[in-house]
Amino acid sequence: MYINGSWASAAANAEFEVLNPATGAVIKSLPDGGGEAARAAIDAAAEAFKTWKATTPYQRAEFLMRAHALMMERQENLAKVMTAEQGKPLRAAMTEVKYAADFLSWFAEEGKRVYGEIIPSARADQRFYVLHQPVGVVAAITPWNYPISMITRKLGPALAAGCTVVLKPAEATPLTAIETFKIFEDAGFPPGVVNLVTGMDPKPIGEEFVSNPKVAKLTFTGSTAVGKMLAGQAAGNMKRVSCELGGHAPFIVLEDADPEHAAKGLQLVKFLNTGQACISPNRIFVHRNNLDGFLDTLTGRVAGMKAGNGMEKGVTIGPLVNEAAVAKVESQVRDAVAKGAKVLTGGERLTNGDLGQGHFFAPTVLTDVTPDMLIYREETFGPVAAIVPFDDNDDVLAMANDTNYGLAAYVYSQNLTQAMRLFEGLEFGIIGVNDINPASAAAPFGGRKDSGLGREGSREGISEYLETKVGGFSI
Ligand code: NAP
Repeated sequence: MYINGSWASAAANAEFEVLNPATGAVIKSLPDGGGEAARAAIDAAAEAFKTWKATTPYQRAEFLMRAHALMMERQENLAKVMTAEQGKPLRAAMTEVKYAADFLSWFAEEGKRVYGEIIPSARADQRFYVLHQPVGVVAAITPWNYPISMITRKLGPALAAGCTVVLKPAEATPLTAIETFKIFEDAGFPPGVVNLVTGMDPKPIGEEFVSNPKVAKLTFTGSTAVGKMLAGQAAGNMKRVSCELGGHAPFIVLEDADPEHAAKGLQLVKFLNTGQACISPNRIFVHRNNLDGFLDTLTGRVAGMKAGNGMEKGVTIGPLVNEAAVAKVESQVRDAVAKGAKVLTGGERLTNGDLGQGHFFAPTVLTDVTPDMLIYREETFGPVAAIVPFDDNDDVLAMANDTNYGLAAYVYSQNLTQAMRLFEGLEFGIIGVNDINPASAAAPFGGRKDSGLGREGSREGISEYLETKVGGFSI
């Protein structure tokens, strides 16, 4: 753990093991911290806030830009650590490190643009001055699926705004977090500005985060169930809250779309990170007139994917994070098949050879998916493309919006009017129109409904770490 500028072990030297999901091997043992460690880290962050908040955005940008440079210098090492503990192919891990570094450089600059306002008053003697100030100590909780970018997407704007931070990374991927904090240390951040608490049981750490009066803000990325629980507790103590939660993205291929282009796009985005992405398409609505062309291209490409250890050359899809994740995917596929869905490729666990040591499920295409199936209603978080044929463009908007989630959605169409109608009507926060990567440090990322509160990235991302203050001046 990294607390007040020093590396620390847990009370009584308690430790937990970090495993490789491709091989089942133990990679390392790490400090198993709890409420006590979280409290010490929060105390350090509160003390450091007194001076960090008084630095200028130009000074803070220098620290962030040094961290950005170090992250890019260490890109390959960071990617290897990530692949070992999370499983994604090395090339995908390299891409994630670059995406993560972007949040440091983008917010280093954006911190300089936290402008106030002067508002005219109805009284001739009065002026209103509006100022934005850092909220204070930020408690951050991140998931395992994007082990580095989920950290910098929070810490980049928080640090640029003048906040200090305590981070709890996921139990499955703390090693990437540790390498990231070595970068913060080497970039020279003063003691207490960034703090890291690792642990196996997240509850005592979470309880400290939502109840400690020194914490001003909770920022959480993870499942909707845990996010709702923590947000409720934090709100009870009037802490500021942002949540990036689960998704159930529709991917809509309209009648006028190019079915092959859409199928190529779907294969790339659906199987990214073995389907373990909050913006992963989960319900793929394809107009029946495009179905044959779409399925031919998709099935061929999916059947050609190579599952394996992400460190090996040629591997295009890694393992799932653990056995529970494989069991969930398996039960969704079984349920769908029992209710009439057809498996076009995949559909089962992969246990042949070395794959038997890890948590592998074959990349799968299911068609004839209907609303009574679990996969139509629940986030899969696995490598299954669930195809729902449809007949009428006018029905598909309501079908896509028929979910409690509201994070990402995708539309394929060559008709601008149709595409714009869906873009405006979809009740989701992030829409890709003939585009499978609608995310960037410069663009707002976040969801509606059960997918969360607030936005990360973009100028909205920094405002999540700022309080507004108004001064009425009588002259
Ligand atoms: P999760 O179980 O909610 O875990 C996320 C984080 O919360 C982990 O650090 C976890 O710690 C911690 N946590 C769990 N229970 C807690 C508690 N009682 N108190 C405090 N912290 C607690 O979710 P996950 O399975 O890791 O992540 C997958 C989910 O994240 C999916 O639903 C996905 O859609 C969502 N996600 C959303 C976005 C987005 O931007 N919207 C991005 C990525 C992922 P442990 O690891 O120690 O359990």
